[in-house]
Amino acid sequence: MTHPVEAVERALEALGADPWNAFLHVDAEGARERARRVDPAAPLAGVVASVKDNLAWRGHPMTCGSRHLAGYVAPYTATVVARLEAAGAVILGKTNMDEFAAGSSGETSAFGPTRNPRAPDRVPGGSSSGAGASVAAGVVGLALGSDTGGSIRCPASFCGAAALKPTWGLLSRHGLADLAMSLEGPAPLAPDVAGVARAMDALSGPGFSEALEGAAPEGLRVGVPREFLEGLAPDVERPVRDALRKLESRGARLVEVGLPSARHALAAYYVLNYAELASAMMRYDGLRYGEPGPENESYEASSAQARAAFGPEVKRRILLGTFVTSREERGRWHDAAVRARAALARDVERALAGVDVLAGPTMPVRAFRLGERVDDPRAMYAADVLTVLANLARVPAGSVPLRVEGLPVGFQVMGRAGEDAGVLRAMRVVEEVAG
Ligand code: GLN
Repeated sequence: MTHPVEAVERALEALGADPWNAFLHVDAEGARERARRVDPAAPLAGVVASVKDNLAWRGHPMTCGSRHLAGYVAPYTATVVARLEAAGAVILGKTNMDEFAAGSSGETSAFGPTRNPRAPDRVPGGSSSGAGASVAAGVVGLALGSDTGGSIRCPASFCGAAALKPTWGLLSRHGLADLAMSLEGPAPLAPDVAGVARAMDALSGPGFSEALEGAAPEGLRVGVPREFLEGLAPDVERPVRDALRKLESRGARLVEVGLPSARHALAAYYVLNYAELASAMMRYDGLRYGEPGPENESYEASSAQARAAFGPEVKRRILLGTFVTSREERGRWHDAAVRARAALARDVERALAGVDVLAGPTMPVRAFRLGERVDDPRAMYAADVLTVLANLARVPAGSVPLRVEGLPVGFQVMGRAGEDAGVLRAMRVVEEVAG
């Protein structure tokens, strides 16, 4: 183990002037001081970690990537952050993110986009953009982010890191700013699967690292949803098919399965995301959070002015979320999305019935160029087609990097609700066979 004090110095050196814009707040002095107090026998002693800026860390700024919260200081610490600290991790600072976690590239942050350390003209993926970049740049060994529709798996895939979106409800959401609460939760990202498992031991409870012991492809039953291999960029399809072949040649059993309602996943996800986000944003009215507008004649006038501080993507979602839940429209939109979600969850359960895990790519493309999709919401949303399913079905899903030339490619593993350790174990197998 590297001594915590030395680990912090190394992290600060690797960070330098943060050319990736991965951090919104760095607490160098505090980190040095906390490192001195770490018990060297603690399970995460020597680990320097970053925390996404939508998780509260007492006494430190928390912006959620939004101008609305510039200057806000968290009055308490999120349970998951406290758990990491209690396990001996030293938190270095808060990472950049899409505004209120609404995005897949990191570009909707009010504080400028994050660059992908593997290719600085490319996005690192989002919304946990700084989480992915802080690990890929070798600054920290663990990043805590969140995942509503892919926000930890997308940066893992684009940056070449491992990450897990746990079963919905497994990790405490206390201190996580809501975007769409029925879909999201905190989620860890690390350089490898063992790092994610160690984080889960601290965040949830012991058993995850243990589950990796003796992980082997022999006898692993892998369901491959047909729909997951459709419409992929060739430079994603090739390595994913390759990895599946390697798994099979090493003794895993591949089973083709179908997820017929998967084609409705993206539409259902976005309608629900809009609806929940619009409701979650009501508190950012300049009275409860944010600066009141100069017009203080009435609450409506003042809060309308305060809301001008939201960026275009958040505004778009508030408008659409209000529309899809309006009395006239909700039957056609919101209620239909709720039904689609139930059908999808049944599909996933059925597909998982005879296998241990489902597998396929994490993202349909490799990291795209900065600026390439940010003005085209539908192109941006399309990138989430393979990740939203696990959030809708509330099941665990992780991403593990494949061994490839050039930009990273993530391989996705999904499992039954509550079987997070099994997902990590299968990810470890993929890492060993094709990582
Ligand atoms: N890209 C998805 C969205 O924009 C997911 C974001 C997330 O997981 N927070 O909603």
